Amino acid sequence: MSFSRKLVLSVSGNKVVSGFIKKYGMRLGAARFVAGETLKEAIEQVRLLNKDGLVVTLDHLGEFVFDEQEAFASTRACLDVLDAVKASGVKSNMSLKMTSLGLDLSKELCMKHMRMILDKAREYDNFVRIDMEDYAHIDITMEIFDELKREYGKHVGLVIQAYLFRTVDDVKHLEETYEHCNLRLVKGAYLESPTVAFPNKVDVDNNYLKIIEMHLLSGHFTAVATHDDNVINHTKAFVKKHNIPNDRFEFQMLYGVRPETQRQLVKEGYAMRVYVPYGNDWYGYFTRRIAERPANAFFIIKNMFRK
Ligand code: FAD
Repeated sequence: MSFSRKLVLSVSGNKVVSGFIKKYGMRLGAARFVAGETLKEAIEQVRLLNKDGLVVTLDHLGEFVFDEQEAFASTRACLDVLDAVKASGVKSNMSLKMTSLGLDLSKELCMKHMRMILDKAREYDNFVRIDMEDYAHIDITMEIFDELKREYGKHVGLVIQAYLFRTVDDVKHLEETYEHCNLRLVKGAYLESPTVAFPNKVDVDNNYLKIIEMHLLSGHFTAVATHDDNVINHTKAFVKKHNIPNDRFEFQMLYGVRPETQRQLVKEGYAMRVYVPYGNDWYGYFTRRIAERPANAFFIIKNMFRK
């Protein structure tokens, strides 16, 4: 992991820094990466993206909730997302973080909330993607996914992070256990110990290509979620060489990141899904984007000096 990324992720935990960014962040630039604070604003952005041929996964921002009422409020917000997608007819599924649904309070509470959400997703024939969070939550996330996957089948999917040593084994396990296992593959966004994750970027990148190839060849649906041209070009060449049809995979990128490339991929005939986060709890999400690309911080500094 690069020094700058480590620095931003560590500093973002500082109370003074987080207080300042929380107070002024939306004005300073979070709005570039967050589609608004309300669901109505977010649905408008989804409509615009759909117009350009992009599909979406909507995310009501929230993570690491330690209060039962807050966990229920997050669950309610997820149900509202599914209702709004159905009512508006926009092309979007949903992503969520289980720590926002009470995972740190108890597995049972989180499962109860997940079942409420997945009942509705199944009723509307929609799909819910469970984001993968920090290493401390991996085992419990895999365990819950196992149970929910058996109950809800094609309506639920998971994210796998290439930076972890265990990843290849996890992908193999999922491919062997389920007939259809829709995975979003990412490099990984959290600050992890070198005892569990590759400390060098080159190893993360190599492991990422390895799991993308594995999953594409397995016949399961693959979402390649990256802004990295090397990975995108490698995937294009790989699917061509192995005659993998375009409906068996998609590219995914984050809202506000490389929007021209997103549209270019659509023009080339690829499915492109944009991850659209919205809501008040945007701090953790926003600081991870800065950590990934310090150039994004210059954008914020520039905005600080604008009237
Ligand atoms: P990097 O190696 O970070 O970047 C490669 C190149 O891409 C850079 O050189 C630059 O040219 C470009 N680039 C990268 N980031 C930016 C940016 N912010 N702005 C402009 N250009 C940029 N992580 C998780 O841990 N769990 C999840 O559930 C999860 N879900 C995700 C969902 C989606 C749709 C996406 C796109 C990412 C998700 N991530 C998740 C984040 C992911 O793990 C990476 O941290 C993030 O995507 C950056 O890695 P990268 O593959 O884009 O490549």
